[in-house]
Amino acid sequence: MTQGPSWRRTHTCGELRPTHVGATVTLNGWVQARRNLGGIYFLDLRDRYGLTQVVIPEALGATVKLGPEFVLSVRGKVSAREGSQINTERPTGGVEVIAEAIEVLSSSPPPPIDLSGSTETSLETRLKYRYIDLRRPAMQRNLAHRSRFINAMRRAFEAQGFLEIETPILTKATPEGARDFLVPSRVHPGEFYALPQSPQIFKQILMVAGLDRYFQVARCFRDEDLRADRQLEFTQLDMEMSFVEEEDVFATWEKVMRDTFKDAMGIELSIPFPRMRWEESMERFGVDKPDLRFGLELHAADAWAKACEFQVFRSAVESGGRVMGITVPAAHNLSRKDVTELEGVAKGIGAKGLAWWKAGAAGGSGPLAKFCATPEAAASLMAAMGAAEGDTCLFIADRKSLTRKVLGELRNQLGRRLDLIPKPSGPTDPAQWRFTWVTHFPLFEWDEDAGRYFSAHHPFTAPEDWSLDGAMEGKQPDLGKLSSRAYDLVLNGWELGSGSVRIHRADVQQKIFSMLGIGPEEQQRKFGFFVEALSQGAPPHAGFALGLDRTSALTLGLDNIREVIAFPKTASAVDLMCDAPSQVDPEQLAEVHVRSVLPTPSAPANPAS
Ligand code: ASP
Repeated sequence: MTQGPSWRRTHTCGELRPTHVGATVTLNGWVQARRNLGGIYFLDLRDRYGLTQVVIPEALGATVKLGPEFVLSVRGKVSAREGSQINTERPTGGVEVIAEAIEVLSSSPPPPIDLSGSTETSLETRLKYRYIDLRRPAMQRNLAHRSRFINAMRRAFEAQGFLEIETPILTKATPEGARDFLVPSRVHPGEFYALPQSPQIFKQILMVAGLDRYFQVARCFRDEDLRADRQLEFTQLDMEMSFVEEEDVFATWEKVMRDTFKDAMGIELSIPFPRMRWEESMERFGVDKPDLRFGLELHAADAWAKACEFQVFRSAVESGGRVMGITVPAAHNLSRKDVTELEGVAKGIGAKGLAWWKAGAAGGSGPLAKFCATPEAAASLMAAMGAAEGDTCLFIADRKSLTRKVLGELRNQLGRRLDLIPKPSGPTDPAQWRFTWVTHFPLFEWDEDAGRYFSAHHPFTAPEDWSLDGAMEGKQPDLGKLSSRAYDLVLNGWELGSGSVRIHRADVQQKIFSMLGIGPEEQQRKFGFFVEALSQGAPPHAGFALGLDRTSALTLGLDNIREVIAFPKTASAVDLMCDAPSQVDPEQLAEVHVRSVLPTPSAPANPAS
């Protein structure tokens, strides 16, 4: 019989139980903690699967030098722990291994990160020594969850007949609203590849090619400023399907999410998810990613404002703006201090102020009370705000978009402050996962700084009306009013992903490019191949992409995607472990025909001159 080298493990560090007592085993792992009790060493040996206590008798201990994070092979006999010695917090806590031989496979200096978790380590240190940070059980759990989740999703797509197809990383720019990362070509001097912001164009071309149902775990690259939930490169579950409309895409994803949650987390989601038009979401919640776990919906008080004596309210409505508010039930005892703090939040977002009224049929109290002096005025404001006696109404009067934005943020803050989000009854309680589809986003968005319209989703999104409100017949519609067939999947106030029904008609696609100010020459240069593909038998198609980093984090209850990415970058876009980005040799630049325009570091001053 052949045998592996003697150091190789017979069991993992999470495996031994009282049933193994008496067996001779070999464990491999890292030294987590050592204690010397009267000459006898106790140490915890750790691997991905758990911790096992190892006892090193005095005679053996004298022959080996051990330190934290040393990598060992320990051979010994499994022994039962009795009574108070049993560690009930660990699956292996009923046993220990009495070491007979120890081989040091690798040594280590004292680690820069405390792996027992008793002291906090700075983010810089965690990222610089990521290989040690990743040894922490929490990080191992996060990456294991991510792996399980993605693989469950793969199976769910396969079960619905989707093909996993890879698309190129070295490609041509696909506009998703961010800057491109460029890669200079060595063999084509002066030319560049772009890294994909998403596989958008390729997946649509796969539909033209008749592949019908595509998906991919796709890495995307967008050169934008980083935030807690953004990285320069991120992973999407990207998909596309042919001969479908919104409802088909939704039904496909609902099945995928149901299967994935069941498979990876043992949670039975209830489907279908609710659908809500963008306009409704903005009007009821002030945002396009509503958190449906609590109420406190927005109320419109425009009609009341228009007829009231309060000049600020009246002029807001008369100048085309809105007066809207939130009603906080009396039971929450919103204090004056709370209102002042919320006003600070509102002003921080750009509101001029936050008006409030303690509702009352006899006029109530607060700054608005004098405008509610008549029983009719008080009653009609209470009706508009859905308010009962003693409730506190908070109002914003401003431009429509700002009014909604401020109230949307106040609602979310109130949800947290007032503890309105119900606690799940347990880890598998499906009620904690409130998904919703938000549909029919605007087609274009006005950019104040650039002074022009941009696609709200991307330029391949179908308009709700294929005639583009008459633009296809030469009319000039108001671009700000066009509605699209773009949709988002939202979970508990987070956008998990976006998609749309696509433009499969070359003429409509060209029209959209023109409406975006992309002239015929630029269209030809950047998208000529794509429009040509659309003109050669493109089926109606639609798709979606789900952010896997964010979804993995949220399903673990984490709000920073760094915790589910093995090697993330810092907020200033640096990989601290390998020190990227970094300078390259001049020869390497020359090879790809690139010259730096940065001033060369000044040569040390010549003392002789
Ligand atoms: N390509 C889009 C994105 O990456 C998603 C989609 O429309 O499928 O945001």
